[in-house]
Amino acid sequence: MTGRCMGWTLCGAQASWAGRRVRVNYAFWWPVFLLFNGLNYHSWERFDGLVESQVWVVLALGALNATVLVGALALGEGLLADRAWRRLVVAAYEEEPGGRANESGQGRRLAVSTLLGWVSAVLAAVPVLGYATDSWLFGHLGVHVVTGLRLLWGSGWDQCRVIVESTGLRAPVAVGVLAAGAGVGIAGTIIVRFTRFLSNRSPLHVRFGCGLLTLAGLVVLLAVLEGWGTRLDSRARIWQEQRRVLPFTLSFQERGGGLALDRARLSPLRSAAEAEGALPLVVPRSPGRLPDIFLFVVESLRGDILDACTTPNLTELRHECFAFGESLAASNATETSWYGLFTANYALYAAAAAREPATWGSASLKQLRRLGYSVHVLASSHLDYRNMDQVIFGSGHQLADSFLDIRDFGGAEAPERDREIMRRLIEQIGRGCGGRLFLVFYESTHHDYSWPEDAPAPFQPVASPWNFYLNFRVSPQELVGIKNRYRNAVLFVDSLVGQVVSRLRSEGRYNESVLLVTGDHGEEFLEHGRLVHANETCRVQTHVPILLKPARDMARPPASALARTTATHIDILPTMLDLLGANPQGPWAGESLLRKVTDDAVIVQENGSRDPWEFCVQAGGFKAWLHYPSSDTIVSLEHRIRLSKVTDASDSPVNRRLDTAEGRAWCRATFGSVLARIYPDLQW
Ligand SMILES: [Zn+2]
Repeated sequence: MTGRCMGWTLCGAQASWAGRRVRVNYAFWWPVFLLFNGLNYHSWERFDGLVESQVWVVLALGALNATVLVGALALGEGLLADRAWRRLVVAAYEEEPGGRANESGQGRRLAVSTLLGWVSAVLAAVPVLGYATDSWLFGHLGVHVVTGLRLLWGSGWDQCRVIVESTGLRAPVAVGVLAAGAGVGIAGTIIVRFTRFLSNRSPLHVRFGCGLLTLAGLVVLLAVLEGWGTRLDSRARIWQEQRRVLPFTLSFQERGGGLALDRARLSPLRSAAEAEGALPLVVPRSPGRLPDIFLFVVESLRGDILDACTTPNLTELRHECFAFGESLAASNATETSWYGLFTANYALYAAAAAREPATWGSASLKQLRRLGYSVHVLASSHLDYRNMDQVIFGSGHQLADSFLDIRDFGGAEAPERDREIMRRLIEQIGRGCGGRLFLVFYESTHHDYSWPEDAPAPFQPVASPWNFYLNFRVSPQELVGIKNRYRNAVLFVDSLVGQVVSRLRSEGRYNESVLLVTGDHGEEFLEHGRLVHANETCRVQTHVPILLKPARDMARPPASALARTTATHIDILPTMLDLLGANPQGPWAGESLLRKVTDDAVIVQENGSRDPWEFCVQAGGFKAWLHYPSSDTIVSLEHRIRLSKVTDASDSPVNRRLDTAEGRAWCRATFGSVLARIYPDLQW
């Protein structure tokens, strides 16, 4: 054995496992250590507002984590590549009868040994590439690789196809990404082998037992530093945030910091039959005595996109609508918001409802039907996304009198589908009068944002058809082009709503009709370092317009009262019932906006096919950021949530310590009443 030895002699005999000397591939692992540390801090903007003395705690914790991870991988790879595993397996061949004398046996031993060398290189390359890919993906999409895979596989092959299709990821692009991944994997394996060759020319040895002891010491140091750091609330918050970013962290602290709140038990989800039994009495009316209701759900429509240039029709419509002080989506993602909007329940229940057929069929839609409404669905979208079509309209769509979604369009592009829907809607307007609820879903405003070739596109320059899966890092110029794509798509959808309004006016039915326009969620353009939606419950991803134009003879609350009201998706159907003179209360959480006196909102972060585990509660101009202990949570079984931080409604941090008696009392005064509606037994 040649070369230096870093082992300590106290680690035992050469022959024992602890004393085994492992050759470390330092030419590979040293750059990896630097890479891991670099990736840990790729999102420097998260350190904004921290003083230097706070930053170094976070840096030290991240560096310790990287050291432990790289150290463990290096030790494991050294053991496999250098000695133990190879000898063990080759020895098995040598025990074959006549093996030692047999030349073909020797060739086989060599082949097995070489093969094992490659296997150890693959085993070293995979976690490194996985870690780097994960950091990259999280930095741009806010989703870890494992989470992404679980989102895809969580609900079976059919849903997997629906999800991939609805993301707009083209098949050739997906194949290209997979091929590139395989290519990088092969290159990584070759690099491990080559660097091992370089390292072996001047070997560096570590005794296995000593390496393990050192790692154990680092783990203890990590625990001590973390314990000390998290005693100071602001440092804890930043470290918790940093941990969320890292694909792997060793930690001894409960994630989240802030306040732990016990007895957070959600009321159980009612079955469809129970909910129907709890519906208040309603006197049915003839359709002629009920106004037609047009409810437009525009994909990814930001609350602040409405202006005379981008949305001339919606801007004009807005003058006749209730002017709510604030308007927020039920969540930052499509299917969870649909759930909130059409069941009038908190989106916290969305995934649980999708799993449980006994709960399918929206009680608030049923109530509108009992009142005398027929329900007509015209959707350009995949309404079967996470079974939401069945959750809302029942397992056989029995709550819809007519039903049309993307599956009826045979592969037409979004603008084409949206136009066809508008055409069919206008056709239907003339075929009846009153008592019809039209639920219209437009899709052109989904990224990559599209409009027909013959439609005006005044916002220039535009980015070329743009797929953000390949183009995470956009330059400021590209961002302008992407935003212009979005505005052109919004302008197109605005024109579709405008044509429906024109038809209603020309038929003299406008004043007698109820119109409602909203977005399913907002859309981010790097305001918080992310693109599109579904990755953070920040304001740009959750602020949507809620434009409600009542029919002429309906009650209009005073403007001063509406200005104090926060409209959310879950309030929309109860408000419709109230406008129609029916009891707005029922087996749901939403309130009539004609009576709502609070500015409360509950905004849920989607979690794929699993129960949402992060959400925000907005009240009194502040936003509490809450989460369950784990992303695998079953919300109906949980009894503890954490209030990890408080911001203002625009997501700026509020400098307030939560873990003091005073902080707790303030949180209770601000968020207590809305949290008590979600968790009746919550303990402060
Ligand atoms: Zn959406």
